[in-house]
Parts: sequence; C-alpha cells; structure tokens
Amino acid sequence: MGKLFSYRNRPVHLGPYPMETLTRQAAPAGLNALPAPVQISFRRPDAPLSLVNAMRDYQAVLDATREGLVKKERAEIPASPQERTDHLKAFGYFCDASLAGACAVPSGAWLETPLVNADVAALAETLRTKQTKTFASGIDVVMANLREAMQAPPADCRHHSHALVFVYEFPRDPEAGEDGTDWLADAQEQRACLRAAETVVTLANYIRLLGWEARAHTGAATDVHLGQLAVQAGLATYEDRILTNPFLGSRFGIAAVTTTLELAADLPLAPGQAPGLKYRLGLGAHAKSAASRDPYAKRRFMDGPHPFETLKRVEDPTTYIDKVNVARVPKRADMFARSLFGDLGKGPQEAAKNGNYVRKSSSAFAFRSSLAAFVLLQDGEPAPQVDPSTADAARNAANIKAAAYFLGCDAVGISRCPDWAYYSHDAAGDPLAPYHENAISIIIDQGHETMEGASGDDWIACAQSMRAYLRFSLLGGVIAQQIRNLGYTARVHSVMDGEVLQPPLLLLSGLGEVSRIGEVILNPFLGPRLKSGAVTTNLPMTRDKPVDFGLQRFCEACNKCARECPSGAITAGPKLMFNGYEIWKSDSQKCTTYRVTVPGGAMCGRCMKTCPWNLEGLFAEAPFRWAAMNLPGSAPLLAKLDDALGHGEVNTAKKWWWDLEMAEEGPYAPSRHPVNARKLSKDLDLKYEDQTLAVYPAPLAPPPYAWPAPMDREAGIAAYQAMIPAAEHKRRRAQGL
Ligand code: SF4
Repeated sequence: MGKLFSYRNRPVHLGPYPMETLTRQAAPAGLNALPAPVQISFRRPDAPLSLVNAMRDYQAVLDATREGLVKKERAEIPASPQERTDHLKAFGYFCDASLAGACAVPSGAWLETPLVNADVAALAETLRTKQTKTFASGIDVVMANLREAMQAPPADCRHHSHALVFVYEFPRDPEAGEDGTDWLADAQEQRACLRAAETVVTLANYIRLLGWEARAHTGAATDVHLGQLAVQAGLATYEDRILTNPFLGSRFGIAAVTTTLELAADLPLAPGQAPGLKYRLGLGAHAKSAASRDPYAKRRFMDGPHPFETLKRVEDPTTYIDKVNVARVPKRADMFARSLFGDLGKGPQEAAKNGNYVRKSSSAFAFRSSLAAFVLLQDGEPAPQVDPSTADAARNAANIKAAAYFLGCDAVGISRCPDWAYYSHDAAGDPLAPYHENAISIIIDQGHETMEGASGDDWIACAQSMRAYLRFSLLGGVIAQQIRNLGYTARVHSVMDGEVLQPPLLLLSGLGEVSRIGEVILNPFLGPRLKSGAVTTNLPMTRDKPVDFGLQRFCEACNKCARECPSGAITAGPKLMFNGYEIWKSDSQKCTTYRVTVPGGAMCGRCMKTCPWNLEGLFAEAPFRWAAMNLPGSAPLLAKLDDALGHGEVNTAKKWWWDLEMAEEGPYAPSRHPVNARKLSKDLDLKYEDQTLAVYPAPLAPPPYAWPAPMDREAGIAAYQAMIPAAEHKRRRAQGL
C-alpha cells in the first residue's frame, strides 16, 4: 500500500523514521556494559552456495578503501557544527541508511585491537595482475591506490574527535520453503554490513575531499566499538543485553565514520521507549511507518518491492526493433568516450578529462573511487564444477531475483542477450564477439526525496547518478559472483565498463517502455528516475516478457521532458527509426555537451525530475497511475494536471547538499557560477518544427580506436532529417529497399 501522507515538508536529515519524537537524555545508558564486538565474517566454507560468499570480495574492497588521502586544501563549508551534522546525516539518508546520528567519540569506544578484514590480503593477491579495458579516465590511479591500500594497514586514528553513525535495518527473514531463497539463509548481518560499508566508505571519502581526516568503520573492519557509537549517537539503547531501537528492534547492522571534522552531537536515547501511535497507524509525514517499512513484509522476495506482477506482459516490446538489421556500434561511439577524445570539441573534452565533470562536485566524486575499484571484480573465473542444484531454469530465475531484491535492487528482469545488444568493438578497438545468451537487468531508483529538492541539473545531479551506478556495481557484482560460485560464467556491465547496450535489454526483460526522453527506459513504478546495469551469463534462467503499460500513448500526448530539457535535446516530434530501433531519438550531442559542461551544476537529469511519472509513491497518486495506464485518452489531461499541481518544481525543504565546486585543483568552494534552480517553463509551447536536432547513426559512428574523430554536425542534422517512422521502415524492408 502507498503512503497516506506526503513527506513534502520534512527535512531530509530527519530521516525516514520519526526519531525526533523519541525522548533523549544526557547519559548514554549501558554504554560500558556492551560486550566486545564480534567481527562479521563473509566466509561460509560449509555452505558454498550461500550468498554471503559472493559478498566477500566486495566487502574486502570497501574495507581496503576505508582510509585514503586527505585533500590538502580545505573546503569552504559552513562553520556551524549543527549544519555539518544535518548535512552529513542527510547524505547518509540519501544513501538509504535507516538511521543516522552523530556523536563525539567516547574514549572507551576505541578498540585495543582493531578488527582487520583478513579477506583484503587474499583479494590483493587475486587482483595483483588483473587487467581491464575501459575508457573511464583516472581508473588506473584508483586501481593503483587500491592495490597499495591492500598492502598497508591504515595508521592510528584515535585522534578523530567525532563520529557519524549509520544503521541499516534487516528486511524480514526468508520463510521456510519460500521460492527463490535457496541462498539467503543467515545472510542478514552480512547484507547490512555490506550496504552500510558502501555508505561509510563514500562518506569518509567525501569528508577527506573536503580536507578533513575521516575513516570508515564496518562490521568486518573497525577501530571502534560500533555498538557504543550507536548508543552514544542516540540510535540505540543497550537494554536486557540487547542493542535495540524502538522502530527496528534489534534487527540491524551498524557502520560509522570517525573524523577530525567537528560535528554537533545527537543526544542518547532514553531506554524503554516504543513507537508512537502515528507511526504505528501510518499517519505521520515520515517515509516509513509500521505498515510500510518493509516492502517484503507481505511479498515474496522474488517478486520485488513493487507489484510488477500486475503489469500486462506482451510478446514484443511496444516499440519496433528491426532485430535482423540492428546496427551494432563500437564502444567508442559512447558519447562520454567521444567527449573524452575531443569529438565534441575542446570544451567538452576539457570537462571530460580526468573525469572532471565528476571531480568538480565533491558529493559526486565521493562515490567514484569505489565505483572504479569494483571494475576489478566485474569478471572472473567460475567455480570448476557446475552445481547440480542449477538444473531448473525457473528455480535459477527465482533465486537470482530474490537474491537481488534481498540485497536491495529496485527492479530486476531477465531476458535473452541477443547478439545485437553487444557493442561491435570493445574499448581497445578489438571486435567483440557476443559471449553470453542471457542477461539480468537491474534498476536502481535514483531516490525521490533528493530529486524533490533538485532542479535536475544542479550540484547534486551527478551524485544522484553516481550513487545509483555504485549501488548497481555493488549489488550486480555480488549477483555475478554468486553465479560464478555456481559454476557458470557471468560479467557485470557497469557505467565504467560495459559491453552491452542496456536499453534493449531493459525492454526485453519487461522493466519498462521507450519514453520520449530517448534512450531512457521508463519504469511504471519508478518513472524515468533510475539507473540500470546488466549482468550477462550462461546460467540457464526462465525469461521475463516485455511490458505494455500504455506509455507510448502517454508520451505521444505529453512533451514535458522536451519542454523542460535545458539543452533542447529531446524531440517534441514523433518516434523514428534509429539504428534499427523505433525511438524518440534525442540529440545526444546536445545532451552530452550540456551535461559535461554545465556551469551551474554537475551533470543533468532534468527530464527525470520533471516527468509526471516521477512520483513519491503516495496512495493518493494511485488514481493517476491507473488512469495513465488504462485510459489512453486521459494523457493530455493528466499531463496538464501534473503541471497545474506544480509537480517537477524544486522543493527547497528537501535541499540538503552544499553547492560546492572544485575549480582547477583548488579546494571545494561555493559554486562560482549561479546555481541552477529552474522553475517549470509552463508557458513554453515547444514546437517540433522549431527544433534542429542531430543524430549519429552507425554510418556516422567513429572508428573503434582511441583517437579523435570530430563529429560532423551538418551530417548529423541531415541524418536526423532522413530518419523515417517504423511503418515506412517496414514498408521499405518488405520491398527489399
Ligand atoms: Fe513521456 Fe512526458 Fe515523461 Fe517525457 S515527461 S518521458 S513525454 S511522460
């Protein structure tokens, strides 16, 4: 069931639970009575198929990077400790922490013997000679740093004065005999540890980029007693020998960041409290209530958090794909690669060099080192023997989906991986022979709450993308490793290093339909507010079918994204055939140029922000979604209503981030340029005939090699004008033209 009340006016730093309603006290009850911490292990030699084994290397990479270089130049950030705490807690909630708190580190919380993750050293040996092929810039540096970090234990950090503490709750336990849960027994602690590690490693990195020391501490590698920090920071109490929270009970994991950055502390909780009536009845303005907090309370893990089973399934995607004539293009044709090699001109090339369009935003850059490090784990050798439990393709599909949803993916679909979904050449320019027949497509929600506070092209936009990309790389990576542990091959295709095109796989696996935005596939429950990734494999699995939820009719009657696009890259016209696909083809040159060079922000996702399908998930929104799916004629009215209600405007109550920019190699400082904070352009009547768009189909793609191939915009405009509708394309094919 959707939420009854909107969290529209609730500041992000308060979090999804009404923690502010609890009674606080000065003294942390039971702090020194807590038993010594027990290190969380990711080794299950007696249960080789347990998902815990597949998490091991990812936890090790995160633990290897919990410390790092501190930026020499200190950022210009607010001096108020309270403002800092609110900001960093909100960052943790942006990363989907259940609870966040801050405290001064109690002197007794430092462990005499820090817990060291022994899997780091083992992984270092495996990765010593690993090679990758990718265009992503700066990745060699990240890998060198990672290899170095794996060799040397971090120095003493007992002088860190403050801590940020994050709690990650457990979903329900798998039920006995529940389909899809073959690998999920006793994996809750490890799941929470891994998810929390992703957040604290990112936040520690962020604080170091701002110029202060910071170290992440996880359940597998820590210098501090995490339980004590949770009590001190007002997230839990130690009662009856149990660490407990009024909303979560004792089912959670903890991680922390210690730092030299001065923060305002939260007060400890008073013991013996229970959730209030509003929380229990779902009547509050916070995101979670007793009924809504666990999406799996009444759903099977394999079915996911949204009612995907209610969607109409069809044999073919709702947009035409001329499968035998899809033109494969080299990886080099990717627009970010083209920026890097100067094809789009000097401005975009400068912006793309060393990943500058990410580096200039501290909140975005904080995610990048983990994202780059995970590239090392994307592929690997399978176990020598295929496990006999994998003979049943339906059971495999159920297990894969349930495992991905258990870990925290937002939508998962399985399809074949046709040859035409592969690039023609890899990043080294070598011809790419398709190697896997099956694909698992995974969607990560970019997060509604932060999107509410954003214009789509401001200083959080890039971080929104990076957060979702990192989440996929982590969770998709665990799934791929699990498949290899079963004795099959599997490869992750991430934003940093992928060899397949994701939109066609998303269509085939029923995760959405083509939208006016162009290459963005829109999901009925998340709208276009998503990032995707794929795992390809030879594991046999039953496949999903494409979906039809009426989006083609809706987008034909709505052009809000085209109207709101700051670069004018989205067509206001019809769908046309491009490289064998029927799509609303956008002008990727305009889009990419704007995204990498935008001065008043970092990157852009304004189309996702302003689309009427970008919804909070309220009960009151259900009629909109129903009408949009079932009454095609209502689309113009619904699009107008969406405008009238002001959906897509910036909600300043949700703005938690700092508009920091790094100019040259100096410190992060308040943006030198006016920050993008756009209003809806309701009065703009965008006409297709007034647009000049360019496209670069296969014949205009660059050669597969890493040297410049400037774009010929005139040829691109001519190519746009030569595109034809699907019906005409079919007619010509039938005539052999
Ligand atoms: Fe389709 Fe309108 Fe969303 Fe654009 S804004 S993707 S036209 S529904």
